[in-house]
Amino acid sequence: MYALFNFRSLFFIFLCLATMPAMAEKLAALPVSMQLSRLSATTWQADYVFSEAVTALNFEKRGDYRSTAWKVLTPGVRYQTNEQMDSYVSSQPLKKISVEIAAYDQYLPKNYAPNNRFTDGGAALYMGFFEGAVQQAGIARDMVLTVSYQGMPGETVIAPPRFADASKSLNAYAYFGPQKPMDAGSAKIIIDPATPAWLTGLILETGTKMSNYYSATYQRPLARELVLMISVAEFESPGASMKGGATNGQITYRLSGKSLVKDVPPLRSMVKRLVSHEMAHIWQENVSQGGIGENPAWIHEGGAEAMAMDALENTGLWSKDEVDAYKNKASQTCDKLKDGPPAYERDYACGLQNFMNMSLAAPVVWRALISETDRTGEYYSEAMVNRLAKQVAGK
Ligand SMILES: [Zn+2]
Repeated sequence: MYALFNFRSLFFIFLCLATMPAMAEKLAALPVSMQLSRLSATTWQADYVFSEAVTALNFEKRGDYRSTAWKVLTPGVRYQTNEQMDSYVSSQPLKKISVEIAAYDQYLPKNYAPNNRFTDGGAALYMGFFEGAVQQAGIARDMVLTVSYQGMPGETVIAPPRFADASKSLNAYAYFGPQKPMDAGSAKIIIDPATPAWLTGLILETGTKMSNYYSATYQRPLARELVLMISVAEFESPGASMKGGATNGQITYRLSGKSLVKDVPPLRSMVKRLVSHEMAHIWQENVSQGGIGENPAWIHEGGAEAMAMDALENTGLWSKDEVDAYKNKASQTCDKLKDGPPAYERDYACGLQNFMNMSLAAPVVWRALISETDRTGEYYSEAMVNRLAKQVAGK
């Protein structure tokens, strides 16, 4: 998981505030359905239908995404925004609101990219940004959103993976485009045709090895189909950037920078680590309930680092020297950052350090954690890590 966690906690706090009046009134979340249809290469339409009339549709603000890319279509509904919220407001209660959404190529700081566009016209939309809350006569109310998808004629549509928890199902991308997904073991793969061949090969090979290793080591075949998407933003800028994100049951990579075109050893190492790390999150979430919640990011990020180091070493994708060098560097990074302000690197580096300090193999700790969250529905937490680390160390 990338560029996500601090923001997720913020989101949670915000949602709690936003829903307090609703909780006081004891209103259950309102069932809402939405159809997302692709109208053209660069436009979509979202048609929200509310099971009871509402006077506003509210979303946590996501930078300028809605102010620049969303346009309300329903007459009498106006867009309002403030520091925290984007709202679509009506003076009359109504049961439908439609919005047109344009392609958006920017990144949002510390957040999922709203769109990952492919060079062949395909596009993936982050569905978490379609979920919000409603207002009824001034009272805020959560929503339970169910989405259906409609592509242009003949195009492939891949909906986000389904989870028992409806809102979790939306924390992933929906793909619209011309590609027919390739099958690779337990994964479905969509690859931008502009991806350099060496990189496609390496991602597929590493992904297959990792998925075999994690299945065997964590004794759990994947509960839901894994979808892996690789999109190319551009190969003109200097350097190399490969942004990866594991959202529930899905991995997306967005590539940019001209250095990615050439196959060189340090890039190969970086790609193997990133694939192993993202794949580890898939197994952390390979549960019927629980998994990654709102708890400190060091648990799942440091955990994914520890799982990745174990997997890279045991599959021989990295030498022991490479693994040791990486761990040493992480320790140094952690020492530098541990007393400073919160930072993503700290969650990774100090998280890895915390798991290394347990002196237990990553699979021993994580097998226990994954079973526990699946059995109890409790999200991963520091208390759970401490409790289970003690338990398995005692065995
Ligand atoms: Zn991660």
